[in-house]
Amino acid sequence: MSVHTMETLALFDSAPYQNAFSARVIAVSEQGIALEHTLFYPTGGGQPGDTGHFILPDGSRVDITGTVRDPVLRSIIWHQVERCPDQLAAGMQVDASLDWERRYQHMKMHTCLHLLCSIIDAPVTGCSISADKGRLDFDLPEMTLDKETITRDLNELIQQAHQIKTLSMPASEYSTLLQITRTQAVAPPVIQGSVRVIEIAGIDIQPCGGTHVTNTEEIGRVFCEKIEKKSKHNRRVILRFE
Ligand SMILES: [Zn+2]
Repeated sequence: MSVHTMETLALFDSAPYQNAFSARVIAVSEQGIALEHTLFYPTGGGQPGDTGHFILPDGSRVDITGTVRDPVLRSIIWHQVERCPDQLAAGMQVDASLDWERRYQHMKMHTCLHLLCSIIDAPVTGCSISADKGRLDFDLPEMTLDKETITRDLNELIQQAHQIKTLSMPASEYSTLLQITRTQAVAPPVIQGSVRVIEIAGIDIQPCGGTHVTNTEEIGRVFCEKIEKKSKHNRRVILRFE
C-alpha cells in the first residue's frame, strides 16, 4: 500500500468510552506505528495524544508513548514508540489498549473547559489540557474575573448534570455557526465535508474535535487555581480537579 493512499479510521469520535480494540498494522516508520483504525486520540485542540500499549501476536508488549496525526498526510495517525520491535511489520494484527484513566481525565477536563467558555464572555485564544488540570486563554483586557466566582459557577453547572451531544454539521452551514463560535484562534476540524459540533444544550455550542464525557456530572468537583495576566489583552484561567 502506498503511503499516500493510507488512512487511519478514527474510532474515538464515535466510541469515546471504548478503550480496547484489535487492528491491523498498515505502516511502520520513524514516526511510529499506523493502524487501519484506532481509538487513540491524536494530539490536537489542546488535548494531548493518548498513551497505552499494543500486544503483538507473540505476546510481547509495545508501549505507546503518544499519538499524533501525520503533519502532512492528516488522515494517518501515528502511535509513537520508544523503540520499535524488529518483528513489528505492516499486515500484523495487534491488540491495543489505551491508558484509560489518563484519557478519561482528558475527557472530563476538556468538557469542563466548554463550561468555562460559557461563563466567561470573551473570545478564547488558547487551550491546554492535561490529566490533572486545564486552562483557557481569553482575550480580555480588563481584570473582571475572580477565582471564587468561577469555581462556584462551574461546580453548579457540573452538578446540574447536563447532557453533552455531538452533532455533525455540513461545512457549508458552518458560516452560520461561526457567529456563535468562541474559539477564534482554532480552525474547526472538517472531516469528509462535515464539522463536528459539541453541544451542551442551552450552555455552549462550538465546533470541536476532542473527546468529551456525555454528562457534566462525570467531571466531579473542580476549582479555579489561578488567573494569570499573560499580556495586556490576555487572561489565562487555570482549572484543577479537586
Ligand atoms: Zn471540546
